[in-house]
Amino acid sequence: MSVRVGILGATGAVGQRFIQLLDDHPTFELAALTASDESAGKPYREAAKWRVDTPIPVDVAEMTVRRTDPDAVPDDLDLLFSSLPSGVAVDVEEDFARDGYVISSNSSNDRLAEDVPLTIPEINPGHLDLIEVQRDERGWDGALVKNPNCSTITMIPPLAALDEAFGLDRINVSTLQAVSGGGYSGVTSMEIIDNVLPHIGGEEDKMETESRKLLGDFDGAEIEWHDVDVAASCNRVPTLDGHLENAFVDLAEDDLEVSEIEDAMREFPGVDLPSAPNQLIHVFDDPERPQPRMDRMRGQGMQICVGGVQSTPHGVKFNCLAHNTVRGAAGASLLNGELLHENGYL
Ligand code: NAP
Repeated sequence: MSVRVGILGATGAVGQRFIQLLDDHPTFELAALTASDESAGKPYREAAKWRVDTPIPVDVAEMTVRRTDPDAVPDDLDLLFSSLPSGVAVDVEEDFARDGYVISSNSSNDRLAEDVPLTIPEINPGHLDLIEVQRDERGWDGALVKNPNCSTITMIPPLAALDEAFGLDRINVSTLQAVSGGGYSGVTSMEIIDNVLPHIGGEEDKMETESRKLLGDFDGAEIEWHDVDVAASCNRVPTLDGHLENAFVDLAEDDLEVSEIEDAMREFPGVDLPSAPNQLIHVFDDPERPQPRMDRMRGQGMQICVGGVQSTPHGVKFNCLAHNTVRGAAGASLLNGELLHENGYL
């Protein structure tokens, strides 16, 4: 039986990716779209300036965009995906959850809240059961689940593989992030062409905190964050899609062979969900890969690419890449939606 889903913030950069990824989905049927009051009441093709590289699905083009309000969407939706600006989402998502809707959200609000699962299905699927704590504490019939920031999710799979095999002590990471990460109203062409912006507001803090929650342990009542030190430096570069990151990691074990490190990443297990890649981490032997333009769509944009793996006196350095609006945003929420479905939360 199909699961009826809606998208909050359906006209933006991430909202458009949701629509693309939900087209022909085996389980989810798109039944409602919302955006700001300026877009509400218009057919989707008119409200959204479509920029994704496949045509708007014909049935979606004619759907009427609704207001982003629990009273404006059908009661029988099983799941909502959210790609609202966080300043809007912070109140609206709670209104929907209070009204009984289950929300899989991209927005950065509440990612660190003690009773909100921050989940990547391949990394910490057990954290989803924090929903029981959330429902007890907030009295909700609905639920709110988050996926991490696009720059965090790019580095977490290889780090989780290293943690499991060798133990993490310290992570230093520097990012080269695509312009689509800022959304359609993000950086202007005058700011970014022929340029690099060495600061992305709030991004470093997100990488430093979210990664410790994701890699933490859930004991059935609360999440104990991982005690690894994380230092991040974030840069906006003139690529369209795909965040590339350079990671320098101290491990509990020294003097590892490159092959041992690469094997730990290659063999890290995936999950059996419709939108998950067959292999979670692809490791390149070629030190010139991964590159954003060539590698961001591996595994339909859901695989994490790693390259340049080198052993260092205290651990390892490597480069990693993920598609920021697919694996880093809409695809991440979609996968969490599939996990919610598989675990009986819908
Ligand atoms: P975006 O392109 O600016 O789109 C924002 C969406 O929210 C649009 O549909 C917009 O509708 C709607 N919206 C704006 N104000 C609203 C209001 N007051 N009430 C209801 N709807 C409103 O942004 P985005 O890049 O898609 O990002 C969406 C969220 O995902 C953000 O929280 C962002 O931090 C997060 N995220 C983005 C990325 C990425 O790579 N871009 C990655 C991870 C997470 P209108 O068209 O009507 O204005």
